[in-house]
Amino acid sequence: MQVLVVGAGVVGLAVARTAALRGHEVVVAEATGGIGNGVSSRNSEVIHAGIYYPTGSLRARHSTRGRRMLYQFCASHGVAHNKCGKLIVATNAEELARVETLMVQGETNGVEGLELIGGNVARALETELFCIGALASPESGVLDSHGYMLALWGELEDRGGAIAFETPVERMSFVPPQWQVQFGGRDAGTLTFDAVVNSAGLGAQALARRIEGYPADMVPPLVLAKGNYFGFAGKPVFSRLIYPTPVDGGLGVHVTLDLAGRMRFGPDVEWIDRESYTVDPRRADSFYDRIRAYWPGIPAGSLVPDYCGIRPKLTGPGEKAADFMITGEAAHGMPRLVNLFGIESPGLTSSLSLAEEVVDRLAG
Ligand SMILES: Cc1cc2nc3c(=O)[nH]c(=O)nc-3n(C[C@H](O)[C@H](O)[C@H](O)COP(=O)(O)OP(=O)(O)OC[C@H]3O[C@@H](n4cnc5c(N)ncnc54)[C@H](O)[C@@H]3O)c2cc1C
Repeated sequence: MQVLVVGAGVVGLAVARTAALRGHEVVVAEATGGIGNGVSSRNSEVIHAGIYYPTGSLRARHSTRGRRMLYQFCASHGVAHNKCGKLIVATNAEELARVETLMVQGETNGVEGLELIGGNVARALETELFCIGALASPESGVLDSHGYMLALWGELEDRGGAIAFETPVERMSFVPPQWQVQFGGRDAGTLTFDAVVNSAGLGAQALARRIEGYPADMVPPLVLAKGNYFGFAGKPVFSRLIYPTPVDGGLGVHVTLDLAGRMRFGPDVEWIDRESYTVDPRRADSFYDRIRAYWPGIPAGSLVPDYCGIRPKLTGPGEKAADFMITGEAAHGMPRLVNLFGIESPGLTSSLSLAEEVVDRLAG
């Protein structure tokens, strides 16, 4: 098939590479001038183990499977990564009960190696840490997400695929037996494809609304939840990812490490109406409060505003977290069209596994 993938984020690239490996002719249309310019370059770069998500959900299934595939891919393609492990820490009895629940959830999801450890054991591992207990996850890690996307792009090109940059998809209609796709930008014009994957991230709903005849009730709401990060101006004190117990809308302000071992904190959850990428320095106050709960020694004045990302959520504050939404022909009735909505965390971790499901669905 001639396959069009809309969006050169990590998910679009993974889908395009998988489709190309299966022998399809693949073109990726990307609105901006480079790969990973959307949500994919504004995240924690954490390879999640797959602990938090309801068993049987797409997020649980694709994160645990996608994580195993991603470690293998990184090893075989020379993508920098570090399986540094993670501690989800409890600082009071209520949190300890939640950490214990997470242990059960993670084990039910098939996450390997999880272990509940006491406060003393945790402090022996991370001497600056305060907690009364923690869930240790040895399978969690970090990766060079841009290096990963470059490797996906490389493999796509090796198989004859290509990316058209500065080429936004404007509208599409199914004119049997093919999809007619209208492009704007650099390569403006109309082309036909056998199959289309909408992996436009924050633009997925807008694009779905421009598909002629696409059922309006199959376009979910888009809810924007910004996540702000603050960098740590000092010598790193932790060697593992340190997460508090999760909060509404996110996993809590956690310690992430880059591959050089530098620490940053975030993301928090800021519900917004419009895309905006400025980090308000005043949010630092709430960061200190939250971090002090598990790192009492954080020096005053050590946090500096860094970057932010926007989660493409499908539900808002106080509502039950939504699963990834993948709609194919069975759901919307249009042949060889797959839409991906709400691909927030753990989308990076899940990308290789998600890609297989999407390409399977294209085949019908
Ligand atoms: C704050 C934050 C932290 C996160 N942390 C993690 C983490 O630690 N681990 C993890 O596994 N996941 C994490 N995630 C989730 C992960 O980043 C995303 O799931 C993933 O990047 C989504 O990739 P994507 O390809 O779907 O979207 P994107 O990367 O946004 O790609 C979509 C692309 O489509 C393009 N586009 C849009 N409309 C059109 C159009 N009409 N025509 C052509 N192109 C178009 C855009 O320009 C963009 O490049 C985090 C997300 C956030 C926001």
